[in-house]
Amino acid sequence: MDCLREIEGKQAHDPIFMEKMKKSSRCVCVPGPVIVGAGPSGLAAAACLKEKGVPSIVLERSNCIASLWQLKTYDRLSLHLPKQFCELPLMGFPADFPTYPTKQQFVDYLESYAKKFDISPRFNETVAQAEYDATVRFWRVKTVGGKGEEKEYMCRWLVVATGENAEAVVPEIEGSEEFGGDLRHTSLYKSGEEFRGKRVLVVGCGNSGMEVCLDLCNHDARPSLVVRDTVHVLPREMLGKSTFGLSMWLLKWLPMRLVDKFLLIVSWLMLGDTARFGLDRPQLGPLELKNLSGKTPVLDVGTLAKIKSGDIEVFPGIKRLKDHAVEFVNGRSQNFDAIILATGYKSNVPSWLKEREMFSEKDGLPRRPFPNGWKGECGLYAVGFTKRGLLGASMDANRLAADIERCWKAESKHCVCPFLPHFCHNHHHDFGIY
Ligand SMILES: Cc1cc2nc3c(=O)[nH]c(=O)nc-3n(C[C@H](O)[C@H](O)[C@H](O)COP(=O)(O)OP(=O)(O)OC[C@H]3O[C@@H](n4cnc5c(N)ncnc54)[C@H](O)[C@@H]3O)c2cc1C
Repeated sequence: MDCLREIEGKQAHDPIFMEKMKKSSRCVCVPGPVIVGAGPSGLAAAACLKEKGVPSIVLERSNCIASLWQLKTYDRLSLHLPKQFCELPLMGFPADFPTYPTKQQFVDYLESYAKKFDISPRFNETVAQAEYDATVRFWRVKTVGGKGEEKEYMCRWLVVATGENAEAVVPEIEGSEEFGGDLRHTSLYKSGEEFRGKRVLVVGCGNSGMEVCLDLCNHDARPSLVVRDTVHVLPREMLGKSTFGLSMWLLKWLPMRLVDKFLLIVSWLMLGDTARFGLDRPQLGPLELKNLSGKTPVLDVGTLAKIKSGDIEVFPGIKRLKDHAVEFVNGRSQNFDAIILATGYKSNVPSWLKEREMFSEKDGLPRRPFPNGWKGECGLYAVGFTKRGLLGASMDANRLAADIERCWKAESKHCVCPFLPHFCHNHHHDFGIY
């Protein structure tokens, strides 16, 4: 809080600064960090900070915690990885949860987590801009509420927890306007129920695309799958253990290439040659590929059997859409009633964070590779951008909390009152709440 003292001296008589402050409609000075996003990562960061005695506030654009899980995922979703790899710091899953908790169980767990650590995010506040103000050495975080009301938060530490999946990726496909049928992203797909009896084309063969196909089969729809790229499909379990857990264990003893070889041999024995069904494998092994490009292998939960049995037909890339029909790059055309785009998500950080050092403008992810992407300059932190799911988010949350705690303790020693009354002259401020 030394800097606040300094600011007092420098800014008290600075008319430009004072004018800037007056212009903002509502200014909230936050003694601790501002966390952007109330998904698992934001909650983990808030809990770790709380445990260290550092108060924070969480800003969330949606009206609930874990909005990705509650609002944008399909009903049949369960965690892809066993629960022991998906726990947030400081609180495990209930013992009676299954190995792969359902989406609702995961959301219940997150609700209890928020309750336990007394985390009350400020909902319906979208961070529209965040910028470091070097003159006062504070982050200025501007939000827009549901009715267009604007607010500005000022904080010493900014934690970016908006996720790798903040916005749906919707590719431009030639002829989209001619299609006329139901064309939507997986974020708007809930269940195969509404597609009963319909011919549905699922575009994208990641975990979501494969699972949506299976869900459609289970609801008597007629799904087909577009597979444009190579993909590693692995059984979710091998030798009585989760494939993920087994891989982690083997990596302790063996080099990655050898573990990859092992995974591919066992997969071949259990699933057969996936290339025979239109699912060519990449040159690199599944772990090496994940490590280098972040591309996650598909953990099969039964879709492959439906492909083998012919219940799901595999098509190559799309050339163009026509009236209720799709023309593929191999020249074939087929009629469809609906298309589901399982084409993934992307980070939205470049759209609101005015900073180009820590985050890449291209993909909105930290430039520094794992495990060093969690910390930037001037009190900027990231949680949940490791391409390593909830495990990676937990690691980030622990690290940033320890780092901020050091700073918080050192600074609060010198400061009785962290905020300057004149800072918020004529403005709303919420001292004491946080
Ligand atoms: C279908 C699916 C299944 C997955 N399964 C697993 C699994 O089994 N195990 C695993 O480890 N990982 C899994 N993951 C990956 C990852 O763990 C999850 O995506 C997880 O939700 C990431 O948490 P997060 O908090 O980083 O991001 P999110 O859950 O996306 O949360 C980010 C939050 O930030 C909010 N936000 C975004 N922009 C703004 C803004 N400008 N202002 C305010 N708020 C904003 C969003 O509304 C959202 O609530 C899965 C991902 C998907 C898509």
